[in-house]
Amino acid sequence: MNTHTGGRQMLHKGHSKRRLDHRPEPRGGETAGDNKSIFVIQEHDASTLHYDFRLEIGGMLKSWAVPKGPSTDPRDKRLAIETEDHPLEYADFEGVIPQGDYGAGTVLVWDRGTYRNLKTDAKGNESVSMLTAYKHGHLLFWLDGQKLTGGYALTLFRTDDGRKQWLLVKMDDASADARRNPVNTEPQSVLSGHTLAQIAQETQRRK
Ligand code: MN
Repeated sequence: MNTHTGGRQMLHKGHSKRRLDHRPEPRGGETAGDNKSIFVIQEHDASTLHYDFRLEIGGMLKSWAVPKGPSTDPRDKRLAIETEDHPLEYADFEGVIPQGDYGAGTVLVWDRGTYRNLKTDAKGNESVSMLTAYKHGHLLFWLDGQKLTGGYALTLFRTDDGRKQWLLVKMDDASADARRNPVNTEPQSVLSGHTLAQIAQETQRRK
């Protein structure tokens, strides 16, 4: 399975840009109790269709390729294969990565919004930063997106050939809905309202 997340060049560009910016500290994702970090889910029609789930952690977008996409049913455990960090700017990318480039294929911004860290220590007293939770292989967060809302957990369960495999699971809260299936019923981009096919056509037309 191809789990490329696209934009290696973009990644490098992002890195060098950040160095020049002399930004004091990355926003969000670093300190316990941080609020309003961003998340994005990009549907990516590469050699295998998948959903790139990205969370702003430590000034970068930590990224997972989710073959089946996220579910709103707490009984579903969705495989999420960790992929390369992407720069924050990549959250806005929608379009076509050309053939021959890393992650070639159409990218659609399927959902976007902010998230809050929910992770606390074992006693439930102190919050644990996203970065620490990530290093420990268990993230717990609340999404405020246009399609997805509520609690989700990402849990590292296996490392296979250096590839970290996590499970993305909806928490059983008020926004849980076993019947909704938004991956199938809400395919349009939250940025443009367009479908994957429309995005591919527009890029073709502009050439
Ligand atoms: Mn991808």
